Amino acid sequence: MAGAAVAFSLAQRGWQVEVLEAAPALGAGASGLPVGLAAPHVSPDDNVLSRITRAGVQATLERAQSLAQAGALSAQDWGLTGVLEHRIQSKRDLPSGKALPQAHEIWSTRASQAQVDAAGLAIGSPTLWHSQAAWLRPRRLVAAQLALPGIRLQLGCKVQRISYNTAGWAVWHEDGRLLAQTPELVLASAYDTAELLRGFLSSETGPQLQLPLHPLRGQISFGRVDALPSATQAHLPPFPVNGHGSFISGVSAPVNDAAHWFIGSTFERDSTQAPVRDEDHAANQTRLNTLLPHLAEGMARGFEPEHIQGWAGLRCTLPDRLPAVGPIDPGRWPGLHLCTGMGARGISLSVLCGEIMAAHLEGTPHPLAPELARHMAAQRFVKTPALSPKFPA
Ligand SMILES: Cc1cc2nc3c(=O)[nH]c(=O)nc-3n(C[C@H](O)[C@H](O)[C@H](O)COP(=O)(O)OP(=O)(O)OC[C@H]3O[C@@H](n4cnc5c(N)ncnc54)[C@H](O)[C@@H]3O)c2cc1C
Repeated sequence: MAGAAVAFSLAQRGWQVEVLEAAPALGAGASGLPVGLAAPHVSPDDNVLSRITRAGVQATLERAQSLAQAGALSAQDWGLTGVLEHRIQSKRDLPSGKALPQAHEIWSTRASQAQVDAAGLAIGSPTLWHSQAAWLRPRRLVAAQLALPGIRLQLGCKVQRISYNTAGWAVWHEDGRLLAQTPELVLASAYDTAELLRGFLSSETGPQLQLPLHPLRGQISFGRVDALPSATQAHLPPFPVNGHGSFISGVSAPVNDAAHWFIGSTFERDSTQAPVRDEDHAANQTRLNTLLPHLAEGMARGFEPEHIQGWAGLRCTLPDRLPAVGPIDPGRWPGLHLCTGMGARGISLSVLCGEIMAAHLEGTPHPLAPELARHMAAQRFVKTPALSPKFPA
């Protein structure tokens, strides 16, 4: 998602973009997630994460809408349904007083009784309604963005190392071939970004970049709606519900057109592999039973071994839960940029990150206010006082 978003934002401005992808098909990384949510984050003080996430969700929804208008995304690929948040033991509440953002009522409000009923929750359950929120199939968003003219996609191209000389950045294949020579290089290879940088920076002296990217494995469990008891099918919420993981139903699965339900996701630190595990299905079942207690009994059939399916991937996280976007050290390594660390919010943040990258490369105004932009600057990880973030200009 990160690479596709950058490519789209640049190609839309007339750039020729070469995308080098290691896997033989799209969706090899975390963006192979069958379906996920773009939804705002709320906090009583409307903190930086909340404000950035709103800007990100807005950018994603606008991108999805324009791709849909162009016929590149269909109703099977995303749905601007709104999302109900069940605030289970959660400190996440709406801001109030001076913390109230502009136009807050179009983003998040208390859920109405009709929405609480439709979700099947008990009267008085602590809930919020996010009207600017959608479910989306990431792989479809990636494919739709990469289809823009001006983008050349090379699959099966694992970049082994990068080097810098007077002609710009050289990108090398694992078989030793030169894959590309370019004045502007954006590394958007998630967790592997750190490895590519390590290889390059180990030969460099001076200020170092310490990019603490960590893998965070996650599993989503899903199954066919028509395998559930008919009474349960009739009580599935008509919109996604989040707040303790997230539950989405009625979305067709990537492999066939049948309607499926999805519950996720698990969080496991320090795992660099992503096999699907039975114990994670059990954890997701417990999560669903807490999120939507009235579905617990009926959904049990969906978790039986002959029905349950799973998908697992590695999120790539940074300690402050925000991405690293933009140039690293323009004076020293002109043309080297990052777009990574999407964490658990790639659907909500990647399109905004692509727009930020394009603003840098074109020298146009930054899409975010300076006090928010500095929290996403890749430069915040360069460890030297002289280079402490002076971004954005
Ligand atoms: C279970 C789970 C549930 C999630 N749910 C949500 C959700 O509901 N909402 C949300 O917003 N986000 C969600 N996420 C997070 C989201 O999926 C990620 O933030 C997003 O996919 C990250 O995108 P990316 O492009 O940065 O990384 P990736 O999708 O991992 O892409 C990195 C790409 O780089 C390629 N690559 C790596 N190394 C090289 C190399 N050396 N040369 C060439 N190519 C290379 C890989 O093959 C891969 O295609 C979820 C993640 C998981 C695992």
